[in-house]
Parts: sequence; C-alpha cells; structure tokens
Amino acid sequence: MEPLQSHRVEMLSIAVALVAVGAGTAYYFYLQRKPKGPQGPKGCLDPDNFKEFLLVKRTQLSHNVAKFRFALPTPSSVLGLPIGQHMSCRGKDSVGEEVIKPYTPTTLDSDVGYFELVIKMYPQGRMSHHFREMREGEYLAVKGPKGRFKYQPGQVRAFGMIAGGTGITPMFQVARAILENPHDKTKILLIYANVAYEDILLKKELDHFAQSFPDQFHIYYVLNQPPEIWDGGVGFVSKEMIQTHCPAPASDIQILMCGPPPMNKAMAGHLDGLGYTPEMRFKF
Ligand SMILES: Cc1cc2nc3c(=O)[nH]c(=O)nc-3n(C[C@H](O)[C@H](O)[C@H](O)COP(=O)(O)OP(=O)(O)OC[C@H]3O[C@@H](n4cnc5c(N)ncnc54)[C@H](O)[C@@H]3O)c2cc1C
Repeated sequence: MEPLQSHRVEMLSIAVALVAVGAGTAYYFYLQRKPKGPQGPKGCLDPDNFKEFLLVKRTQLSHNVAKFRFALPTPSSVLGLPIGQHMSCRGKDSVGEEVIKPYTPTTLDSDVGYFELVIKMYPQGRMSHHFREMREGEYLAVKGPKGRFKYQPGQVRAFGMIAGGTGITPMFQVARAILENPHDKTKILLIYANVAYEDILLKKELDHFAQSFPDQFHIYYVLNQPPEIWDGGVGFVSKEMIQTHCPAPASDIQILMCGPPPMNKAMAGHLDGLGYTPEMRFKF
C-alpha cells in the first residue's frame, strides 16, 4: 500500500472508532436517563398525588367485611404496587373530616384492569365509616406505593408470618406472589390470630393455599373465642406457638408481623425471648 493510501485507511479507522465510542457513550447516557421502574406496563399509582379509582363492585362477605373492586383506567392497566407494599386511601369520617389510612390490595399485578380491597368496617372506625357508605359508581382517592418492605423471590429461605385481624392482607399478598410463581420455593409458616371464627378473613383462599401447597405453605389459626369444635390455637399468640409454628431463628429466614399495636408489642417480646435478631423480623 502507498504511504498516502495507508494514512487514509488509518484516518478512516480512527473516525469509525470515534463514531462507535460516541454512539456507545450516547446510548449509555440514554439508558441512564430512562426512568427506572418495574419492567412491563406502567403502573397507575402516583406516590405524590392522590388518584381517583371507580368502585365497580362491592361484595358483602360478612356483616362487617366487604370486598371492593376498583377499575383501573383501561382493561389492560396494572396497578403497579410492588409485592409487600401498601397504599394510602383517603376518605371522610362520620363528621365529614378527612381521614387517610393504609390498605393492601388482595390482588396482584397479574390481575389486570382492576384491584381489590378486603375491608373490615369497625363500628367506631373513621375510615370504616367511609367504606361503609361507599356505593358502586363512586370514586376512592388512592396514593402510593408506600412501605419499606419489597419482596424479591429468593430473598429468604422461609417466612414466618404473624397476623392479627386485617393484618392478614399484606401476608396474603406476599404469599400469593410466592405461591403463584412456580420458580419461587420460599416456605411460608403463617400464624393467624382473630377473636372469633367469623372474624377470619380470606379463610377460603388461605385454606386453598394450604391444600394446594402442603410442602410450602402452612397456616395455624388462633382464636380468642374458639367454637366448640376447634383444632387450632386458643387465646393470644404465645411464645410456644411461635416456636412450634414459625421457622427457627436463622440468617436466611424472616418473621413478618402485622396486627393491632398491642399484639405487635407482645409479639416483639416473644421474638426477643426466642432469639430472633432485628434483621430477622419486619413489622408492616
Ligand atoms: C400495612 C397495612 C395494611 C392494611 N391493610 C388493610 C386491609 O387490607 N383491610 C383492612 O380492613 N384494614 C387494613 N389495615 C388497617 C387499616 O389501615 C385501618 O387501621 C382500619 O381500617 C381501621 O381504620 P379506621 O379509621 O376505620 O378505625 P380507627 O378510627 O383508627 O379506629 C376506631 C376503632 O376501631 C377499632 N379498630 C381499628 N383498627 C383495629 C384493628 N386493627 N384491630 C382491632 N380493632 C381495631 C378499635 O376499636 C378502634 O378504637 C391495614 C393496616 C396496615 C398498617
């Protein structure tokens, strides 16, 4: 090759290399600028602003519990709530004052076009009043996602779960996500406490989990006022019940708790006594 020709080829190679490096750098910065978030369709929630969702179906489950189905903007929309997180719902109490409370849907992002809340309405409860009065065709103001807990498959070998009353909904959501994922082998050992048999929420669904996944999901019901024939626990959740029905303390397990404040306090004492470190537990 002539020296001049060789020089031209060299210059051309450098130019090509520079263009390639430039394009690579531009693509890198483009990727960095892309908003980070879960893969797949965009969620419908806004963490900073309340958004309104239409109540399309209300199903009474017992005298004080109802299931509320809310439509998402399109039939293919997903809510976009990470597993284990909750949302703030805004309403008005019986004297017209604004009230905001946390709720966890019983649906997942695999349920497209809608989300559902199972709500227990207490006679004196402020947000309970709002839900009691809510009719199909009305809108609920919702903000989220909220919460420090975000489930990733394989995060732990086993979850112990201790739930009281409506505290079952975050546990149900995490359990559903695990059991509906055939690649997720995480074990779930759940203790679920209520006052009376009629208070047990989502019983049909929980029993179905136990029957369908006997090696992966176990539930132990505890009642303050058990019926005459009852093979679950009786009274409050005790240290011995936790020892028998939850995974033993280990670095690859976690105990999740959600219940009324006095129950959470009592459970924290039991877990201390049994040697569960702070890293081994989470309170919703
Ligand atoms: C992460 C998270 C998720 C939740 N998800 C759900 C859900 O999916 N469904 C649901 O129904 N609730 C859920 N809750 C509870 C919910 O946030 C409210 O606390 C509940 O609806 C009562 O609110 P209220 O304003 O009606 O009652 P308040 O006005 O706060 O309380 C009035 C009275 O109601 C009774 N009361 C209130 N809460 C309880 C309780 N937990 N146990 C026993 N008595 C009680 C008490 O007698 C109290 O004095 C969740 C809570 C958390 C922290």
